[in-house]
Amino acid sequence: MLSPSKRLIPSVRSVALNEVKGFFRGGTPLLFVLLVAFVALATACGAGATATPTATQPSGTAAPAATPTPDREVTIAAVGDVMLDRDIEVLMGEHGAIYPFERVLDLLQDADITIANLEIALTERGEPVEKLFNFRTPPRFASGLPEAGIDVLALGNNHVADYGPVGIEDTLAALDDVGLLYSGAGMDEAAARAPAIVEAQGLRIAFLSYTDQFINTFAAPGQPGVAFAEAASIAEDVAAARAVADVVIVSLHSGLEYVDEPTAAQVELSHAAIDAGALLVIGHHPHTLQGLEEYNGGLIAYSLGNFVFDLDAGDLESLGPRAFETVVLYVTLTEDKIVDVRMEPVFIDVLENRPRPATAEEAAAILERVDLLNELVGESCGATEAC
Ligand SMILES: [Zn+2]
Repeated sequence: MLSPSKRLIPSVRSVALNEVKGFFRGGTPLLFVLLVAFVALATACGAGATATPTATQPSGTAAPAATPTPDREVTIAAVGDVMLDRDIEVLMGEHGAIYPFERVLDLLQDADITIANLEIALTERGEPVEKLFNFRTPPRFASGLPEAGIDVLALGNNHVADYGPVGIEDTLAALDDVGLLYSGAGMDEAAARAPAIVEAQGLRIAFLSYTDQFINTFAAPGQPGVAFAEAASIAEDVAAARAVADVVIVSLHSGLEYVDEPTAAQVELSHAAIDAGALLVIGHHPHTLQGLEEYNGGLIAYSLGNFVFDLDAGDLESLGPRAFETVVLYVTLTEDKIVDVRMEPVFIDVLENRPRPATAEEAAAILERVDLLNELVGESCGATEAC
């Protein structure tokens, strides 16, 4: 019934609209929208009345009267790595915990549920574990996350355990204090693998988070740490989550840094999540964008890149714009299908050290690159059995 993943990828296209949902207060003339039409799915499900994505309605056009539908739709906004150490910590000390998000509040708040990857420990205790980069920031700065509109955090990554078990304990406590939901790290394996469950528009959504990045502290029975990504345990957790929720979303922190294509492991783990019943997989860790793949009725965003990261002019010279180019990914879904996918291009400002809406020129470059990255997804897994 469902088409193989690669065949539908060419249907991903960029669309320029005059205005959608008032994202830009400043009057940026064009808003670029990435739309994935799941025509095959809609047809297969007999859903001829599948809602035309509201995002594609030109502004000023009289909207048709709402047609009652049994499908409850929820829009998820997702962003990549949020790293609040180093220069960002200094800037939050000067300007407040909201500073990193201040220029993208409209984007983060224009969804039912907003998800980010918290690539840092929120602690002032503990010792740095032996590795190249250890990230932490004081727990008081957790307040900026919900203030920005973020609801759920992925903790299954290679930095939340940078200050050991006590760092994880403090991070969880800080997030609990500000009312944020999370998955992917915990005081033992069961807690790390437990889903965060959030309800929106009457849909119960379970969120799971994992990483396969070593130089890490993985949770085990009786041992704090992060949730290790392997296909069997992801499938087990997704199946269990499906029993208590309408929709399952999986976060996967995996892949190679600054590499455009997903690895075979990213593909295998993402496919395993979808095959087990997840509808959406959100990836990060490569610090750069990677493509989208429609697979077995679900959607995989292999990497959303950086979102908050202290990048400056020197980094622009050494890493190029790929480290600065990012998006807010919006996915509208129902209980059993993806209805709409679009991206809002964002650029990490070299001088301000924080994300801002991309200029028209930057946005065009980002979306052009996304198109190329989407094509790479099909190519990169051609030689693996996972595809
Ligand atoms: Zn990472």
